[in-house]
Amino acid sequence: MTKYYLTTAIPYANAAPHIGTAMDYLYGDILLRYQLLRGNDAKLSIGTDEHGTKVQQKAADNSVTPQEFVDNLQPEFQKMRQALDLNFGVPIDQIGQPLSGQDFDGQNIVSVRTSDPEHVRRVQEIWRRLDQAGVIYKSSYKGWYCAGCEAFVTETEAHDNNYICPDHQKPYEKLSEENYYLATSKFTDQIREFVKNAVVPEFRGKELLGLLKDGAKDVSISRPADKLSWGVPVPGDESQVMYVWVDALSNYLTALGYPDENWHNDFWPAKVQIVGKDILRFHAIIWPAMLLALDLPLPEKLMVHGFINVDGAKMSKSLGNVVSPLEIIDNYGVDAFRYYFTSHVTTFDDGDFTWEKFEAAYNGELANDLGNLVSRVAAMIRKYFDGSLTFVDETNELRDQAETLLGNYRVAMDGLDLNAAMSAIMEYVHELNQYIERSAPWKVAKLDDEAERQQRLVEIFSTLVGGLLLVAKYLSPFLPETAETIHSVYGYDELPDTVPIMFPKKYLHSDEPGRK
Ligand SMILES: [Zn+2]
Repeated sequence: MTKYYLTTAIPYANAAPHIGTAMDYLYGDILLRYQLLRGNDAKLSIGTDEHGTKVQQKAADNSVTPQEFVDNLQPEFQKMRQALDLNFGVPIDQIGQPLSGQDFDGQNIVSVRTSDPEHVRRVQEIWRRLDQAGVIYKSSYKGWYCAGCEAFVTETEAHDNNYICPDHQKPYEKLSEENYYLATSKFTDQIREFVKNAVVPEFRGKELLGLLKDGAKDVSISRPADKLSWGVPVPGDESQVMYVWVDALSNYLTALGYPDENWHNDFWPAKVQIVGKDILRFHAIIWPAMLLALDLPLPEKLMVHGFINVDGAKMSKSLGNVVSPLEIIDNYGVDAFRYYFTSHVTTFDDGDFTWEKFEAAYNGELANDLGNLVSRVAAMIRKYFDGSLTFVDETNELRDQAETLLGNYRVAMDGLDLNAAMSAIMEYVHELNQYIERSAPWKVAKLDDEAERQQRLVEIFSTLVGGLLLVAKYLSPFLPETAETIHSVYGYDELPDTVPIMFPKKYLHSDEPGRK
């Protein structure tokens, strides 16, 4: 059994989770389920990034402590995880628990909250080790700073923006402060090599290599404690608090118990780390530098996905076009959500959502192409075989198509191209639908010769049932509920008394055909 470790980027816990987080969870869960299906000992890590000035400010605005503020947000994250039908392996209430109380072996999903004292303790030890490795130094920094962005900007950038942050509409402050730095530049060659080998898709890696033309730049990894109080104190220097990177990126390791002696080192390096395109550079530059300094192997793949636009426009509160994953799931079911965002969103680039497109995919592809296929075949088996499902696969007439499906699916999944894998499945669904028309069982059922009629019907329905079970198998990482339903209908000796209606038609955002 191969140990297979997958990670998702941890969202910043200053607001309820949005669709980007849902995408991370969804992709992670699909890869997790796929690896479990292949018999691997797979784990997925999730978590929340809970420190920093924005949380500190939000908490103050709400008259609660930062810890209370992030604690209060946890149910929102849990609701989203549960709604997405993630494969926890343990009851949901055990997810999001402190690291010290988690049953690592029993759960498929490990979760880290960066305010967890156990995480904090481990991160401080990681800092000490980085320091011992000689990659941390103190230096003073002077520059333009936006408190809202929690970031310094260059003189050029500040000048171009008229010294006002375009995102926060507040003037930049001139700030000078002492910070600790991570000597990322020491590892430029290895980082370049890592980017070339690990970043999926390749074009994202190429973009990044452009940024690395003049080498990796050292990064500030702490802030003065009087400016940032809500964070992990720098060991041995009370005046400084860790700023984002060492704290947040380390979650992928603290989830495995690192750096404690009995950590689950057999799960490291991660096979795939899932990140949005906006945070790729931190994962491709700062993160490998940390790992190299800690003398740990680098992750095998960084899987980079894009953003979801709404009708071509960026999703934003001010535009009022924010799409809530829960709204989709509540109205159409979780598998419809999982379907759209794998089938109609390219895995490695930006995707587009409109309710009309979503509903067209739901009614057309899920209800008609798939749902109707499942119920139609069942109805005919009820009629011609009295519901009996004693078919053998020997006469499968779509064997070549099944081989093609298998080949394309494998290649797609190995290349982390979830979109291509879904396409391969739906193509096969299409083949099954065409096969019904071609083989016309309703005509065969009228043949006079009983032996011929029986033999031909058995051939046809062996092909269809075998095909549907294959669809269920390949769909199971993507649409787990649907796969289970198909299996519950066709996976036994007899049809169930009632065949569930899958994907009942919905017209909440489009006109029902034939109606005004
Ligand atoms: Zn700003």
